[in-house]
Amino acid sequence: MATTVTVTGAGGQIGYALLFRIASGAMLGPDEPLRLRLLEIPQGMRAAEGAALELQDCAFPLLADIEVTDDPRVGFDGCQVGMLVGARPRGPGMERADLLAANAGIFGPQGAAIAASAASDVRVVVVGNPANTNALIAAASAAPDVPADRFTALTRLDHDRAIGQLAATLEVGAGEIDGVAIWGNHSATQFPDVSHATAAGRPVLALLAERHSGAEAAERWLDDEFVPRVARRGAEIIEVRGSSSVASAANAAIAHVRDERAGTTGRWVSAAVVSHGEYGVPDGIVCSYPVTSDGSGYRVVEGLDLDARARARFDASVAELVAEREAVQRLGVV
Ligand code: NDP
Repeated sequence: MATTVTVTGAGGQIGYALLFRIASGAMLGPDEPLRLRLLEIPQGMRAAEGAALELQDCAFPLLADIEVTDDPRVGFDGCQVGMLVGARPRGPGMERADLLAANAGIFGPQGAAIAASAASDVRVVVVGNPANTNALIAAASAAPDVPADRFTALTRLDHDRAIGQLAATLEVGAGEIDGVAIWGNHSATQFPDVSHATAAGRPVLALLAERHSGAEAAERWLDDEFVPRVARRGAEIIEVRGSSSVASAANAAIAHVRDERAGTTGRWVSAAVVSHGEYGVPDGIVCSYPVTSDGSGYRVVEGLDLDARARARFDASVAELVAEREAVQRLGVV
């Protein structure tokens, strides 16, 4: 039986970087046939149809079927893996409240369509920004038919960016680093935390202290260079590449779904999940935490110590998420 994967914004840049890897088996594994449903808005249909033609031309053995539609009920029909990529980008002079309102008009109806037509085991990852609050809106609109914790938002790219920076600085392979955490919102307020991280089994903080001649200098490097670099990496990519990060965002979305379904075998990753009050975050907020999965969904890694500095950064990011929730509550969509 083929697994049904729905990708919204399938005619966009991230969609184009995502679809071929999904169809090749990189996300669900080499033995799982799949059916792709590409959802677009009318203006995006031609681009999505073009991608569908190219997918056909790849003759992927695992790809059983492709459908392109601008009707959310059709796009989410039987959906088991939903990847909500299409979102309204911030236009010139657009306030955050306008952005939230525009995206509520996209993610609200999509949540309702998921409730009406997706499979009972559906899981959804939101990539389109502001991802955490878009996930909150979709989950609220899908309630009570779909449990809220089936909705997550992507902070895996931030997580992987943090690993990439550490690997380069410590001159170790990315695969040797574990225990990185992204706390809070997928925005510039996020807190990339390495205080529990290890590289080749050794504490990252101790390794940084060795490199920066002392713990204080290492803290300064973390505050002044590492954290801003990870949080603003998207802007750096735009500056250097001339357009936003696309392949790395698609790669992170694939890794998010793959690890949630296949399990992380004890390794930490980061994902924004619906809070049940972990670490004092208000219930219902879609907040990034370090998480693991045993294949049945992401679970927050609990019981970690956050020092005063970490707590202050995390609290500031959570305050932003609370403000976003209040803004969409005022719109009456959650
Ligand atoms: P992209 O494919 O480049 O980006 C799509 C979304 O992903 C944006 O919200 C973008 O946020 C977000 N994103 C998250 N992480 C990253 C990252 N690291 N780098 C870049 N983007 C990131 O946008 P396009 O404009 O190329 O394509 C969007 C498509 O979505 C269009 O084809 C449009 O027609 C479609 N669309 C579909 C909808 C639907 O299916 N109902 C609704 C709205 C749009 P940010 O803007 O902050 O970069």
